[in-house]
Amino acid sequence: MTNKQEIINRFISYVTIDTQSDPESSSTPSTEKQWDLANKLAEELKEMGLQEVSIDEHAYIMATLPSNVPHEVPVIGFISHFDTSPDFSGTNVNPQIIENYNGEDIILNKEKDIILSPDYFEDLIQYKGQNLITTDGTTLLGADDKAGITEIMTAMKYLTEHPEIKHGTIKVGFTPDEEIGRGAHKFDVEKFGAEWAYTMDGSQVGELEFENFNAAGADVIIKGKSVHPGYAKDKLVNSMYIAQDFINSLPRLETPEHTEDRQGFFHLSSIKGDVEETKLHYIIRDHDRNHFEARKEMMQDLVAEINAQYEKEVIEIKIEDQYFNMREKIEPVQHIVEIAKIAMEAAEVEPILKPIRGGTDGAQLSFMGLPCPNIFAGGHNFHGKYEYVPVESMQKAVEVIVKIAELTAEKYRR
Ligand SMILES: [Zn+2]
Repeated sequence: MTNKQEIINRFISYVTIDTQSDPESSSTPSTEKQWDLANKLAEELKEMGLQEVSIDEHAYIMATLPSNVPHEVPVIGFISHFDTSPDFSGTNVNPQIIENYNGEDIILNKEKDIILSPDYFEDLIQYKGQNLITTDGTTLLGADDKAGITEIMTAMKYLTEHPEIKHGTIKVGFTPDEEIGRGAHKFDVEKFGAEWAYTMDGSQVGELEFENFNAAGADVIIKGKSVHPGYAKDKLVNSMYIAQDFINSLPRLETPEHTEDRQGFFHLSSIKGDVEETKLHYIIRDHDRNHFEARKEMMQDLVAEINAQYEKEVIEIKIEDQYFNMREKIEPVQHIVEIAKIAMEAAEVEPILKPIRGGTDGAQLSFMGLPCPNIFAGGHNFHGKYEYVPVESMQKAVEVIVKIAELTAEKYRR
């Protein structure tokens, strides 16, 4: 199969280019520096001999690996994002390679005493004997999702070099700004022209996901009335106390720190306030669409209830849907998950099917008409200095991509 060194070299050449996205920017890509990697990827795709390589004005990259079989095969695609999270620095990433990991603490940065320890990150243990790529403790790694990019690139190169492997038309899509929730926004599904696709953007080896949260954001604004405290009796309205009532009226155990699997939650992510005005920001998450709608209603009812206690409106809420559970779009085409599962088994990877407690670009794309389950890219501890990726997991992901291409062509051979 593919050579480890090739994967390492490719991965390092991508993560050492800073592509951090910026939620404050309204342009696409949100940061100019994302072009540095985008242009490089487009060049490499051309060099590799892929067809119809395009990079549009928003840095979305598309390319085609033509079919090498005479029969009709559905066009499938593989997608990943080249930006990295705004949560942690992606400048001067200095990847460290831990060969033949011994299962013990990894000193990421001696000077700053930053240690990647299996005592805290138990997942590490399963990679004993493998080759890990880590950070030097000062930046994130960017395996999310440059591992995915590396895997797709390596798989396409492998297929071009191995014409004996039969496949239909394969599309490649690389996007900016996934980390700020905009990776799918300007993705031209029609131009991409695939019947279905896979995002290579999961974590642990074996992950295969086609369920994610339904998601909304809520801004709650509470208006008070500030009066000199010495003369405030029956006049002053303290918006912070009303906020407190609102917060305490929501179920305290339905929060991220008390929920798992398919349990939904309300997450209070910020409070900003004084007597005159308090602003709360919540995110609302639930896999079940009905429960999701009920959560939003609960907040609205609560607002109405509080307002009823005052002469005039003191509290208002603005709820905005963010994304929906792709399950309803994948279930009618469940065979696309089946193919991925069989491909994993053929690559000796045990499929781990579990609901994502978050969203993916694939979820948005599924609602835009491109059903798009998510496959592992191999990294762990995304968006921070403890991020790492086993080279062997990336190698398996390459194998899975190749197998999916092969199995799809086989399945549709008459
Ligand atoms: Zn990602």
